[in-house]
Amino acid sequence: MQIAIAGAGLAGLSCAKYLADAGHVPILLERRDVLGGKIASWKDQDGDWYETGLHIFFGAYPNMLQLFSELGIEDRLQWKEHTMIFNQPEKPGTYSRFDFPDLPAPVNGLIAILRNNDMLTWPEKIKFGLGLLPAIVKGQSYVEEMDRYSWSQWMKLRNIPERVEKEVFIAMSKALNFINPDEISATILLTALNRFLQEKNGSKMAFLDGPPTERLCNPLVEYITSKGGQVRLNAPLKEILLNADNSVKGFLLRENDEIVEADLYVSAMPVDPLKAMVPVAWRSLECFEQIQGLEGVPVINLHLWFDRKLTDIDHLLFSRSPLLSVYADMSNTCKGYYSDDRSMLELVLAPAQEWINKSEEEIINATMKELEKLFPVHFEGSDRAKLLKYHVVKTPRSVYRATPGRQAHRPPQRTPIQNFYLAGDFTMQQYLGSMEGAVLSGKLAAQAIVEDVGLSLTTENQQMSLV
Ligand SMILES: Cc1cc2nc3c(=O)[nH]c(=O)nc-3n(C[C@H](O)[C@H](O)[C@H](O)COP(=O)(O)OP(=O)(O)OC[C@H]3O[C@@H](n4cnc5c(N)ncnc54)[C@H](O)[C@@H]3O)c2cc1C
Repeated sequence: MQIAIAGAGLAGLSCAKYLADAGHVPILLERRDVLGGKIASWKDQDGDWYETGLHIFFGAYPNMLQLFSELGIEDRLQWKEHTMIFNQPEKPGTYSRFDFPDLPAPVNGLIAILRNNDMLTWPEKIKFGLGLLPAIVKGQSYVEEMDRYSWSQWMKLRNIPERVEKEVFIAMSKALNFINPDEISATILLTALNRFLQEKNGSKMAFLDGPPTERLCNPLVEYITSKGGQVRLNAPLKEILLNADNSVKGFLLRENDEIVEADLYVSAMPVDPLKAMVPVAWRSLECFEQIQGLEGVPVINLHLWFDRKLTDIDHLLFSRSPLLSVYADMSNTCKGYYSDDRSMLELVLAPAQEWINKSEEEIINATMKELEKLFPVHFEGSDRAKLLKYHVVKTPRSVYRATPGRQAHRPPQRTPIQNFYLAGDFTMQQYLGSMEGAVLSGKLAAQAIVEDVGLSLTTENQQMSLV
């Protein structure tokens, strides 16, 4: 069967890959001239790469890891030491670490927390541990129920001292959804903590060895096209055309008003463009009403090249800065960006609501002030580190803003329209708005299609295994 998919981010690419595995012919239509959506990357005139986001792969990403293995590119993931490193704002230029020993979960996580004495006192650790008990004992059903509270509200309810939020969870909320603990749903942090504490390598982190578009999207496209699928860039969906029975008749593209007709259709667009494109006749259906409650959150990704090495840390860092979220010196962490004498910092600016409309110059000036606190030795005296160049990538609507109550707005991959399916990190799947969530959503959409129409008879059938 021919299946038209709008959107070549990870969800669309994953959906196309698994449909091709099942013997179908995916036709992937991407609005932009670059693959990858929120993992898109570009080369500048000097040959340096810059990206939509600093991306971390976790041990707790089974579907993503399986995808790397199916593509034969596992060696492109550069796994780092099993630790989490936080800057200490009160002692500029120093770090506090949560080191996970090589022991089974949850013992390794508990030891990592108990051994860290810089950030939390013993009474705080004990109160936090007790607060977490219902999540550990009751599991996912409790975690889902807590979607009615923000993380700050949940911590108060569980009598966890405010300092625990300030020390650890502002950084974690910003890293997970680019918002603060008083905004983020408790479900998001409890889900992440559950994975990190219950899987031995759940919180182990890897960096891709180069730009995601080249190192991850291109192999996917080669795979899809080798199986007969098509991937078209500069092919923006303008309108979903309907038959008299409200099923999809075709995808109308913006370019030349071309109509792409297929047997089935998938939207793998982010939720914001999808909301705008839902045909009037579908708007009162629950699934499409539901998504009106979702909206992408702004975030900014910064790249700064310096005339010298600022750090030799080969890992992600939680800045604990009011302006910034996580950052890394990509000249250490990423083989493709390696340099032994110059740093390239990639930093996530979040929450970005107040900054998204500001000029690049204002954003960089504010960031440089923060860097003076993060790397004091390099920004004092007469021999100060020089900023050679920068790139600022703004994403006004990125992953859905995971405030309390959003779980009820996440739609399933199968819609009430018999020839139309949804993929995308915002659709309902057990992972959050993340690369793992996007890959899984694409796989779930492909699985729903295979269940509904069966495997194509044209090629040898391959079992689709959901992890
Ligand atoms: C700064 C930043 C940092 C991040 N860090 C991490 C991280 O460390 N770890 C992690 O797991 N996740 C991270 N994420 C989240 C992750 O990137 C996303 O969850 C994931 O890539 C989303 O994939 P998707 O396919 O669902 O959506 P997208 O990537 O948004 O893909 C949707 C595609 O649809 C296309 N499209 C839109 N409109 C149309 C149209 N009309 N016609 C055709 N195509 C259209 C878009 O151009 C896009 O290519 C980060 C995101 C950002 C922005």
